[in-house]
Amino acid sequence: MQQTITGKTKLLGVIGHPVEHSLSPVMHNAALTHLGLDYVYIPLPVEPRNLQTAIQGFTAIDLVGFNVTIPHKQAILPLLSEIEPIAQAVGAVNTVSRKNNLWIGTNTDVEGFLAPLQTTYNQDWSQKIAVILGNGGAARAVVAGCAQLGCAKIYIVGRNMQNLEEFRKSWDNSPLGVNLYVHTWDSLPKLIPQANLLVNTTPIGMHPNVEESPLSAEEMAHLPPRAIAYDLIYTPNPTKFLQQAQNIGAIPIDGLEMLVQQGAAALKIWLQRQTVPVDVMRQSLHLK
Ligand code: NAP
Repeated sequence: MQQTITGKTKLLGVIGHPVEHSLSPVMHNAALTHLGLDYVYIPLPVEPRNLQTAIQGFTAIDLVGFNVTIPHKQAILPLLSEIEPIAQAVGAVNTVSRKNNLWIGTNTDVEGFLAPLQTTYNQDWSQKIAVILGNGGAARAVVAGCAQLGCAKIYIVGRNMQNLEEFRKSWDNSPLGVNLYVHTWDSLPKLIPQANLLVNTTPIGMHPNVEESPLSAEEMAHLPPRAIAYDLIYTPNPTKFLQQAQNIGAIPIDGLEMLVQQGAAALKIWLQRQTVPVDVMRQSLHLK
């Protein structure tokens, strides 16, 4: 089915800098075409210094909504009229929608991260320990997700103790009630044997560095039985990290499903629909 732009076509998009690499236009346009809706989803490159002007422009041209990617996920917060509680808890917005001419920010990365864990590996998490590698933006959505699962403890592993301490403090008054501890990478040997869920939120192993992994095969081998290894990276698929996990019998989850599910959650908000064609969105990425 070919998408046709008409005089009435409604606009959606993604802002970022850079934004050329984004897979969101392919995924969302596949869904919109499948649904036969007169919408188009476009890349909107916005430099950091132009963020406020861009948002004023979006109001002027009647954009229906947009996704937010690096480097605007935190910077956009003060420019929006309302921030949903989940985005406040994460401290970042990835989806903006329009209500009564006001821009409302939310965060669907948490829902995206949780989707494969809840649908495929639904279990009682109250005695489980999550070890999260990295303490950047994506790690914040993962922490919120692990807190929503009810994990007993969350260990964050990073390379800069000052950043780690700031990260820990930022969750002190969180309504999510996060039980969070921070460690540097040298603590990994004592953390891995406790990890029921091990999440890579660093870019280590991402294309073109496909031979890299945040762990050695030997470190990975100390994961407990039936542990889940979750890599947020989606190119390559699988990553070296996930291959190592598979080799020792751990359960691998790749970042593609998170990408699809955060997109599906955003599309439901913009279109005010209960369902969107998730299979079509997933398939459009496999064809890339
Ligand atoms: P970010 O804010 O830049 O954070 C990256 C984190 O990784 C930082 O804590 C950084 O440490 C750490 N790191 C980077 N290189 C490292 C290295 N060589 N050794 C040790 N630590 C290293 O990036 P992000 O937005 O969180 O994204 C992280 C990854 O998640 C990317 O690969 C991104 O594509 C992926 N992601 C996937 C999805 C999805 O839907 N699947 C969604 C969001 C993000 P420092 O703080 O010390 O610099």
